[in-house]
Amino acid sequence: MVDANHGYDRLEAVAAGRRAAELGIDWFEEPVVPEPLGAYRAVRAGQPIPVAGGETWHTRWGMREPIETGAVDIVQPDLAGTGGFTEARRIADLAALHGVRLVPHVWGRAVPIAAALPFMAALVPNPQREAPIEPILEFDRTDNPFRQAIVTTPREHRNGVVAIPDGPGLGVEIDRAALARCGPR
Ligand SMILES: [Mg+2]
Repeated sequence: MVDANHGYDRLEAVAAGRRAAELGIDWFEEPVVPEPLGAYRAVRAGQPIPVAGGETWHTRWGMREPIETGAVDIVQPDLAGTGGFTEARRIADLAALHGVRLVPHVWGRAVPIAAALPFMAALVPNPQREAPIEPILEFDRTDNPFRQAIVTTPREHRNGVVAIPDGPGLGVEIDRAALARCGPR
């Protein structure tokens, strides 16, 4: 996957996507700024890599137009920004209704990572089949002590696979002392 973090304009994004297409890229994330959905659709139409986006589109109301008008091939709601579990489930239903793949956006902190895991585990495969499309967890590996230090049992991957937490609630416990150390001084 490639992520432009909405750093290109429409023409640049189309040109970059055409050049990168032969490299076997699975998706082109946030090629342009999130607001002009016509530009998203133009990037989809103008180059062959599937277009992903949605980490800054909030709630079902913010997701509705991009999903219904074909702005993206893959929509990426963020549990921490889109309205929580119930709203994300509504967005998942909306995406399924329109044949748009859903891959949650996750970044930077232990609690959203913990929240994304049970959400993903509860997603109904679309399409349903014997070997469904495997869910993909975006698992930030940048140097960020706040991400893992504030929980007593940080989520880690084993050979690229992250276990679903099985404790109560989100399955993680906040380390209050570590949280205080990471906070303002
Ligand atoms: Mg991104």
